Amino acid sequence: MNSFALRCWTEVSRHQIVDNFRAVRNVVGASVGIMPVVKADAYHHGAVEVSRLLVGEGAQWLAVSSVEEGASLRQAGIQARILVMADFLPAERAGLIEYELTPVIHSLPDLREWDQLAVRSGMPLHYHLKIDTGMGRLGARAGAAEILDAVNGARHCRLEGLMTHFASAGDYSTPQTEEQTATFLDIVSGLRRAGVEPHYLHLASTIPVAYGRSRAWGQFVRPGHAIYGYVPPPRGDVPERILDVKPALTWKASILTVKDLPEGSLVGYGGTYRTSRPTRIAVVAAGYADGVPHQLSNKGKLIASGKLVPILGAVSMDVTTIDVTDCPPLAPGDSVTILGREGDTSLDAQDIASVAGTISYSILCNISARVRTIYV
Ligand SMILES: *Cc1c(COP(=O)(O)O)cnc(C)c1O
Repeated sequence: MNSFALRCWTEVSRHQIVDNFRAVRNVVGASVGIMPVVKADAYHHGAVEVSRLLVGEGAQWLAVSSVEEGASLRQAGIQARILVMADFLPAERAGLIEYELTPVIHSLPDLREWDQLAVRSGMPLHYHLKIDTGMGRLGARAGAAEILDAVNGARHCRLEGLMTHFASAGDYSTPQTEEQTATFLDIVSGLRRAGVEPHYLHLASTIPVAYGRSRAWGQFVRPGHAIYGYVPPPRGDVPERILDVKPALTWKASILTVKDLPEGSLVGYGGTYRTSRPTRIAVVAAGYADGVPHQLSNKGKLIASGKLVPILGAVSMDVTTIDVTDCPPLAPGDSVTILGREGDTSLDAQDIASVAGTISYSILCNISARVRTIYV
């Protein structure tokens, strides 16, 4: 790799990932397990590396979205239990067995299929069942009686966990989370009365952990964002936040060129910016193909020499232009920070998301595969 210098890269702090995991553990206590969510390549932090770290910290379960994501962790030698959360296609059932992944079953007909597979494979296949308690997305939308019938009918596989997912966990101005929790706990008691007791109940992602909604913790919590150092902004009459985490990822790029433009010059595609003074620009080696949101055109900022500097003109595919007139001299090869901290100046995924009109999750997940990750 020596003939290629870094144009655009992320630095992921191993110790911050571990600290964030420990912070979650301190909040939920020893009686609640933590199933870190490492889907989408651990929100671009690198699923294999993050999983190794967290298994090293004692995580016994990991959650991914797809069979393929689970298989790649197995191929990297990860031996923890792996829950596949975002459903699977019939053709992927064999992969679940081959890679010893535990599926979340999302409908009662799918449960029958899984049971038939348990018969054919001669193995007591485990599964977690997801209940749609009101999110209106994936999960079985059914009452206790129907679920009980289906679970009892699936005699060759084992109900290990019962889960649900909240639609509005951070919105304290709606009763939706309370209602979803109540619906879930009703179904659980219905099953219990009939003698069906799933080992693990789990409902909570980052926000119910961060704001202490302990009624929804169950035996496991499923934090994703918190592990990477984020708690999404809540709404309404919000209780005190009890979780302190910090971003583990810094995103940088190199300056390709620096030059002076006279007053009145147009900058970039479409000439959407015109300099209002003699302006020194730096062209940075990161564009929307690297994940810099195009919506930051003429709106966003980067950090150069420890200062926030504006993005000029359109973010293009491979490069972004910034105004460095007020910075100390910068040269090609110097780095700027797209997301991270330089001294007292910082930009995190939430800051960027607010300007781009999106959410912090998508800022992290959209950092593209060509942006190399360095662990520090
Ligand atoms: C992604 C996901 C999570 C993690 O959510 P965060 O907000 O990142 O903590 C938990 N559960 C399910 C079902 C998910 O899809």
